[in-house]
Amino acid sequence: MAAQISAFAPPKAAYNCAPPGFGDRPLFQHSPTRIRMPKVFIKTYGCQMNERDSEQVSRMFVERGYTLTAQEEVADVILINTCSVRDQAEQKALGKMGHVGRYRRENPNVVYGFLGCMAQSRGAELLAQVPHLDLVAGTQKYHMVADHVDTILREKAERRMDDPRFSIVDTDEEPESQNTIRDHQLGEAQTKAFVSIMQGCNMKCTFCIVPYTRGGERGRPIAEIVAEVRHLASRGVKEVTLLGQIVNLYGRHEFPAVDGKSPFVQLLEAVDAVDGIERIRFTSPHPIGYKKDLIEAFTYLPKLAEHVHLPMQSGSNRILKAMHRPYKAENFEELCASIRAAKPGIAISTDIIVGFPGESDEDYAATRALCERVQFDQAFVFRYSKRRDTPAAEMDEAIQIPERVKEERNQDLLGVVDRIIEAKNEAMVGRRVEVLCEGPSRHNAERLSGRTRTNRIVIFDGSPDRLAGQLLDIDITRSTGHTLYGDIVIAG
Ligand code: SF4
Repeated sequence: MAAQISAFAPPKAAYNCAPPGFGDRPLFQHSPTRIRMPKVFIKTYGCQMNERDSEQVSRMFVERGYTLTAQEEVADVILINTCSVRDQAEQKALGKMGHVGRYRRENPNVVYGFLGCMAQSRGAELLAQVPHLDLVAGTQKYHMVADHVDTILREKAERRMDDPRFSIVDTDEEPESQNTIRDHQLGEAQTKAFVSIMQGCNMKCTFCIVPYTRGGERGRPIAEIVAEVRHLASRGVKEVTLLGQIVNLYGRHEFPAVDGKSPFVQLLEAVDAVDGIERIRFTSPHPIGYKKDLIEAFTYLPKLAEHVHLPMQSGSNRILKAMHRPYKAENFEELCASIRAAKPGIAISTDIIVGFPGESDEDYAATRALCERVQFDQAFVFRYSKRRDTPAAEMDEAIQIPERVKEERNQDLLGVVDRIIEAKNEAMVGRRVEVLCEGPSRHNAERLSGRTRTNRIVIFDGSPDRLAGQLLDIDITRSTGHTLYGDIVIAG
């Protein structure tokens, strides 16, 4: 279906002075002789899928001759890729769009667009909420964003004072949209990359908006994904993270099992065989996707990093049922034990929601106790917040948990998981680990940072020019809570 193109009465003052270059049509043609091509600024909220989608959009703009900028104040096109997982993320994106709207004073033809999950779920209502908004592009329309921006820029350049406001809303379903996230905008010496292998989710957990913003599950063919990974390896990428909303259930509706192996395990085997790739990770998986074949894959695929993410969400069977999570706490615990038995030393991280509607003290105590027993290597704890249009948001007000109680449980559980993580990190002191150097540390540019195969961050000294992108052996000398420090092992 075609995008919805709307006309609104413009605020007249917004169109009364075109900046240099914005009146002549050729500005938007892709001639190498152009003096100045439009600059694009993209702000991304949310998960790695969103980061990957923004990277694809950036790539498409670069291919058309646009330039990317990290400075919003000089941009001709300001796009915000949105997240709807929590209300706070939507409010941040709306606040940011309001804030950047002031650049119209200097350049009335700036194009403003919302992309992604909030764009998908709210659609045209965003135009009414944000008067300067020009574009709303949903989660299956990332590949159309550059086309739409071209159109809007042209309209802005050509219109006169009495023309109506022009805007585009494009949130329809698009068959095969999962195959459009495949190009990369790699930085110099970039050694890690995300690879989107599927879109959507059919699970319908009652707290989650993703099935409504990202649509049903659609996987890309294995051959296409492997070709993308080969290309990344040829550009020096050493670590790939396979992305999907329920990544380990990849292809279950489209591709057959072969020799008892799921499509996801077949894909892992194919990616493991790509020369130049040293590490494979994947996120975000679902516990029910860890079948025997996937657990076994950790024992024979050398590049599969020793880290699994297992979103537990709750340790109470009653709450898991209300969340529409199709497993019991005891199955979850057994699964963790099976994974650790198959691959000793593997790290397990998790997501937990506290304060889900109806969560009693006993339910919370079950979650806390399960955390104590499983001993996660990392845990992300969230206070439940209502997402509109989800089943949990419709649950009876009488069973909603007061914010004060949510916060108490949040702090208590953070205390539990932090103690466990600190003890585990302390036990790493004195060990030698393999680290992929990512370059200068974000918190101290004088030092270098990298990750172990178990996804722990390690800080160490060395030359970024020489060591960025290298796999190094590091002796861990110190731990401060969540961060490890070490020294590079000098060969010989
Ligand atoms: S499996 Fe994950 S993405 Fe899918 S509905 Fe549940 S929480 Fe959302």
